[in-house]
Amino acid sequence: MSFKKLGLIEPLTNAIKEMGYEKPTTIQQRAIPIIMQKKDIFATAQTGTGKTAAFSLPMLQRFRKNGANNTKGLILSPTRELCVQIQNDIKNYAKHLNIKTLLLVSGKDINTQRKHIREGVDIIIATPGRMVEMAEQNTNLLSNIEIFVLDEADRMLDMGFVKEIRKIHPLLPKNHQTLLFSATFSDKVRKLSKLILNKPIFIETSKKNSTVDTINQMAYMVDTDKKAALCAYLIGSRNFEQVLVFTKTKQSADFLQDELKKDGLKVGVIHGDKTKANRLKTLTQFREGQIKVLVATDIASRGLDIEELPYVINYELPSLSEDYVHRVGRTGRAGRKGEAISLIDIYEKYDIKDIEKVIGQKIPKDVVKGFEPDPTIRRKDTEEIKLKNEHKKPQKKQPAKKHYKKTTQTKRRKTTKRDGK
Ligand code: AMP
Repeated sequence: MSFKKLGLIEPLTNAIKEMGYEKPTTIQQRAIPIIMQKKDIFATAQTGTGKTAAFSLPMLQRFRKNGANNTKGLILSPTRELCVQIQNDIKNYAKHLNIKTLLLVSGKDINTQRKHIREGVDIIIATPGRMVEMAEQNTNLLSNIEIFVLDEADRMLDMGFVKEIRKIHPLLPKNHQTLLFSATFSDKVRKLSKLILNKPIFIETSKKNSTVDTINQMAYMVDTDKKAALCAYLIGSRNFEQVLVFTKTKQSADFLQDELKKDGLKVGVIHGDKTKANRLKTLTQFREGQIKVLVATDIASRGLDIEELPYVINYELPSLSEDYVHRVGRTGRAGRKGEAISLIDIYEKYDIKDIEKVIGQKIPKDVVKGFEPDPTIRRKDTEEIKLKNEHKKPQKKQPAKKHYKKTTQTKRRKTTKRDGK
């Protein structure tokens, strides 16, 4: 299968070729023809599968003669970084076309954004919050949208953007086409899909919630207080050139940064408390190779698009099992090999089981010599766990109590033959 066979025009196939893409990925092969037929889609495509090109190439093809007369495409994505990445990709794909895109995200001057809107744009790429703000000021802004894309819908919902999506959706014209992309198939996403999709075509590019096949996954059992040392040891002893390390909280991200620095590693951190400018700077330094280790929390990591990242370490497992899929999706992108290592302490033994259920596969477990967990260490919260388990145990079904109304019939029952036996 080639991009040309998918029906894409030469200015697009040339641009793709210049980017080094040889053939379409699975999601591109399956989604592009359906999008061209103007049908709604509900695609479960993970990060790194090439979904950005899957939705943007047909958009560019359709809007190429629009001349920024009115805005025809709207792409919503959960974070600023992800929006920036989408716009960069689109600019590359559209380099031989005359298409104007506009980024509507916080942290950019709102007056400049308004000016660009007045001048005319073909496609808006926005975070839900800023889109609502703009649409409230300019009620006609979305009245000509032909294609509405919800990228990383599951993440948008996890971040609480459902209200914004519900505000934006009625502002779109009735007959628009909607393309919903989600890494996972959560109940929340399914509920949203019922609200915004019209007879969608389902595209499932991989097993439900499964991780990308090319990723080699591994979990090492280790004591909590030795995690940072093990992390440094793995990076050093295995000569990881660059690695993305995930923590559960901002505090442990900062702690880990300090610890890894003590080991002489060049480390950067991105989390919610860092300013946007700081996050972008750190990301650039990481992309340029000035930083070897990037420590990130889940939310801050969304939208990171780092080419050929071979290693991901889960310093702590995520609170939501689905986030594991997002995290490890940072490696093994577009068919490349990747390795995802999780450091598991005694408190995470059950969390990894939940993750295995979500991804539908077992993650091999091992110990690293010199970092074996101390068998005498017991969970401090065993009582709490016991209580939780008790709580989880299915209650024996009690026969439902029957409440008879004191009717004459009840009174009569007492006098039936059976009762009298
Ligand atoms: P995405 O899932 O859209 O974030 O894409 C992940 C990465 O794969 C990006 O770096 C894209 O540039 C790259 N990519 C997308 N489509 C292809 C393709 N057909 N061949 C090779 N790389 C691709």
